[in-house]
Amino acid sequence: MDHILVIDDSRTQAEYLKSILKSDYEVSTCQTGREGLSMAQSGRFSLILLDIIMPDMDGFTLLRTLQENFPTRYIPVILISGLSDVQHEEKGLTLGAVDYITKPFSPITIRARVNTHIKLFHFQMEFMKQAMVDQLTGIANRRRYEEDSIMKWREAGRLNLPFTVAIFDIDKFKVYNDTFGHPAGDKVIAAVAKTASSYLQRATDFLARYGGEEFVAIVIGLDAKSAFEFFQLIRQAVERLQIPHNPAASPCVTISIGGVTVVPQAGDSYDSYLKIADTMLYNAKDLGRNRVVWSDGKKEQWLEK
Ligand code: GH3
Ligand code: MG
Ligand code: MG
Repeated sequence: MDHILVIDDSRTQAEYLKSILKSDYEVSTCQTGREGLSMAQSGRFSLILLDIIMPDMDGFTLLRTLQENFPTRYIPVILISGLSDVQHEEKGLTLGAVDYITKPFSPITIRARVNTHIKLFHFQMEFMKQAMVDQLTGIANRRRYEEDSIMKWREAGRLNLPFTVAIFDIDKFKVYNDTFGHPAGDKVIAAVAKTASSYLQRATDFLARYGGEEFVAIVIGLDAKSAFEFFQLIRQAVERLQIPHNPAASPCVTISIGGVTVVPQAGDSYDSYLKIADTMLYNAKDLGRNRVVWSDGKKEQWLEK
């Protein structure tokens, strides 16, 4: 059942709205903007009904804050107000509210508008999910990676935790395609994604298809040595699939991985570490492929085998 949040400093008003909606929705109420903000951030709401005039933080201020932050910017907000003047309505809609209802209102209007906006919310979520997923492998695509990588980088910096970025690339894949055909190649890409994602299961782990036969993974919280060892497990798991390759290139399909682990410091740029991971991948290829090469972000470089 969809969950609706009603934010209104008048408890009576909030309870009245709840009584209108509770047969179709789970409804939570709160009396201040501050409380509303922290509840909205929980990510469990499909819609917010927001009163404009409130003592501590008014509805406009709260709306602006919701709109500025991920993921609250996607929750539809309907403003409810006793103010019938047109400037308030204009301001609310300009700030990003999806609708504006003036008191007194009829229960039928409330229900109808809420139903419509919740339906639209589901369409939008489904659309966004599709737009962020790589169709061949079902893992995150490049676009989702661009959004999430920076967020994860900042999160690791804030929590002072080691941050790992690794790039993997299938070895001699052009030969594979030339030998077995493109559709067979696609199956290999999907199998590699599935194997890697079975290792990257923690809530903070991230895996995306970076490009054709390249993947990028992000892990938070493992020190450099542990991350190096962890990614060796992934490389070995792909080798254990024993997918036959063209024998002239390799007995079976393998991947090379380059990675770097650092605790992000103020002034560090994510891109400079991504470049290091890329250089490590290049070194892994250069040293003969089917191996992991790691950097601790400084001089140290570790080679598998
Ligand atoms: P290396 O070991 O140095 O990585 O050699 P490679 O042949 O894997 O590298 P290269 O970059 O020369 O070739 C990558 C190949 O990946 C070329 C292209 O045909 C193939 N490829 C890229 N995207 C896809 C895809 O979506 N499906 C399939 N089947 N093949 C793809
Ligand atoms: Mg490549
Ligand atoms: Mg390759």
